[in-house]
Amino acid sequence: MTVEIALPLPLETTYTYAVPELLRPDVHAGSRLVVPFARGVLTGVAVSVDPHDTSGETDDGRPLRAVLDVLDDEAAATPDLLALTRWIADYYVCGWGEALRTALPAGLDVSTEHRIVRTDAPPPERLDDLRLTRALRLLDGSREGALTLGALRQKIPGFTLALARRLERLGVAEIETGLREARVAAKTEAALRAAPPFASPHALADVAEQMRGAKQQAILHVLADYLVEDVNEPAQALVLERAGASSQSLRALLQMGVIERFEREVRRHADFGAMPQGPPPERVFTDGQRGALAEIVTGLDTHAYAGYLLHGVTGSGKTEVYIEALKHTLAQGRTGIVLVPEIGLTPQTVRRFRAHFGDQIAVLHSRMSLGERYDAWRDLRAGRYPVVIGPRSALFAPLENVGLIVVDEEHEASYKQFDPAPRYHARDVALVRARMAGAVAVLGSATPSLESWQNARRGKLTYLEMPERVPLEGGSVAQLPPVRLVDLADEQKRHRLDGTLSKPLVDAIGDRLSKGEQVVLLQNRRGYAPVIECESCGFAPRCGDCAVTLTYHKHSGRMRCHYCGRTERRPTRCPSCGEATFTDLGVGTQRVEEELALRFPDARVVRMDMDTTAVKDAHHRLLDRFGRGDADILLGTQMVAKGLDFPNVTLVGVVNADSGLLLPDFRAEERTFQLLTQVAGRAGRHDRPGEVVLQTRRPDARALTFALKHDYRGFAKTELVQRQDLGYPPFGRVVAVEFRGADETAVKAFAEAWTDDLRRRAEGTMEVFDATASLIARVKTYWRFHTVVLVPPGVAVQPLLRATLAAVPAPHKTRAIVDVDAVSVA
Ligand code: ADP
Ligand code: ZN
Repeated sequence: MTVEIALPLPLETTYTYAVPELLRPDVHAGSRLVVPFARGVLTGVAVSVDPHDTSGETDDGRPLRAVLDVLDDEAAATPDLLALTRWIADYYVCGWGEALRTALPAGLDVSTEHRIVRTDAPPPERLDDLRLTRALRLLDGSREGALTLGALRQKIPGFTLALARRLERLGVAEIETGLREARVAAKTEAALRAAPPFASPHALADVAEQMRGAKQQAILHVLADYLVEDVNEPAQALVLERAGASSQSLRALLQMGVIERFEREVRRHADFGAMPQGPPPERVFTDGQRGALAEIVTGLDTHAYAGYLLHGVTGSGKTEVYIEALKHTLAQGRTGIVLVPEIGLTPQTVRRFRAHFGDQIAVLHSRMSLGERYDAWRDLRAGRYPVVIGPRSALFAPLENVGLIVVDEEHEASYKQFDPAPRYHARDVALVRARMAGAVAVLGSATPSLESWQNARRGKLTYLEMPERVPLEGGSVAQLPPVRLVDLADEQKRHRLDGTLSKPLVDAIGDRLSKGEQVVLLQNRRGYAPVIECESCGFAPRCGDCAVTLTYHKHSGRMRCHYCGRTERRPTRCPSCGEATFTDLGVGTQRVEEELALRFPDARVVRMDMDTTAVKDAHHRLLDRFGRGDADILLGTQMVAKGLDFPNVTLVGVVNADSGLLLPDFRAEERTFQLLTQVAGRAGRHDRPGEVVLQTRRPDARALTFALKHDYRGFAKTELVQRQDLGYPPFGRVVAVEFRGADETAVKAFAEAWTDDLRRRAEGTMEVFDATASLIARVKTYWRFHTVVLVPPGVAVQPLLRATLAAVPAPHKTRAIVDVDAVSVA
């Protein structure tokens, strides 16, 4: 008997291994196997088994190496997942084993721990293997009547899990399987809190003033920040990371009694979104909802593949349609997967699904620890939950008999994985999984991606439209809010711009606050100032490892690289000319926060960006606070644009609507249009009419003028014309290839040789651009070059990419990263 194994390497091939007699009952397609590889040992997945192959030799006559052990009691990868990952490997040009590593819960290489527990059964009279006899004797002699597999292996040469399984079959032992402790999140963690006399942001700031050490000051400021954010006892590790300090710097503060440290348990089972649940409210569906649901149900009833694009404006009731469609799926005895963008997985969303599906739904999210992930996966594998909701990786949930896959906010870029391989797009793979399973796929959005829009126009997806918001109690329909543009250049000319918030926006905020209503403000950059610059010589501090400027974070007084996370103190004097003339350029969320504090001293502001949501659950806590009405203004990066539904929000302001337009990326207009339309949809969702104010320096930009009118069709029409002229998606595919390496000259030469080779193979069937230095030419000390390949419809690029990858050897410490259907080419 032989087995084909996919190993977690960027290799196209699978490997054949012999299966020893003893392991045969446990080896199935989908099992994780430990095998010798090169001079080490690797874990791979059996992709097929040949029970009749007894030659014991490779095709070229060398003896086959043998499988060392089997890790799972039940095949880890279902046949569905084997087929799906095979497709992914082919399409996205990566190893099958790499695709499997992404699809399996804790990675392929995770160590499972097996404990062999002696039962009460008496030992059998005769055992034909001396190792079994010895194992039983050791178990009987052990204190708990149990030993780990590792311990048995140490004492008995050649002992395997398969042997342990024989003991189990004889009834004399049982095997318990779990994750090895060390890999699972630590059971306890150190946390910090301010000592009672100092437990307020002001008190901490006061103490900080008196401290001489910069690190100590930074720690106190970070603690104060956490207090502001309602986090009273942050984990020590997070505080130190944000402060850029070591535990050494903590000691003085602990000794002085300003802060206290304590150990606490880390929960393994996240109770994310598991708040008490009322029954779901009674709904009468709108005509739009009824029509869309009827079509989807028709599709479900055929028990064959069907794909839908559900185009519904924000607040049109798409989520309710998903829920009803899921109920129909469950009633058919099938299962369902709901994908949401990471940011869309708010407690609000989870609560709505829980109200309908209770404990039939598994919630996956990216903040889960390895242990939580593993447990959830095992429950899903065992068929405990018929519904799963989560970010893109939930697509690989080991559900059987899948009937419905929903991709909410299908236009979101976060559905594309970049690192590590496979660089897959969950929306596209969702369609593939649905097709393979004979299931229905529903892609939903208020601003569909142009790919899906075009697919609907060509009939590849059935188009379902819900153009109106759900009517209010009284029966009137909440209108999409009017959008106003404020031309910042104009304001400046009229000397009305002092700071980052224009007069019309400030007036609008003031007006809403005075009525007791709430405001959402979007500023799509975190930190205080994206760039600080010396006014005398123009010097701007840059990251020593990445070719980007450092962003100034005022609370910690430090500058941070948003690519590699490195932080530095803000210099008082310019290291280039020696003058003390640094000035802040550009605007980050912290700076807007400061300006709000000056202009509206009484307003309670919640800031939401990557810095304030680094702590587990902070995102939800901040939103809950705003939702409860304990804050007046929600200020943040694109996180505030997605999926929130707060009845009291009547004004949405965008501090700089153009920031995304400056990127040299063919999707820049589309992204900006989507972001503005989504954030605009947050205003006036209920009975109070809302309004939207966009500040811009480019009032004529297409993305803005169409967002102003909530005109998706108009935008799509003009954008498609441009894309078609250039051969960009959806009229062709884009493959981006990035070349990375430690030596600039070597990377450049490699990039050029690679591009030449591919161009030669392509023979004019596709456009291969010259390799150029990337926009961010250096990240974490690596130099980056890239090229873009435009592939016309119907031309298969993957075989060529593979051929070039094989033909052009990468120099030492250099590699080519192929990204098929890249979402960004900057
Ligand atoms: P979308 O997902 O399209 O943005 P939602 O499904 O979130 O829209 O619906 C918007 C709001 O309207 C939610 O508060 C939801 O509970 C409510 N809603 C949805 N459908 C109905 C309905 N048929 N009747 C009353 N309220 C509804
Ligand atoms: Zn850096």
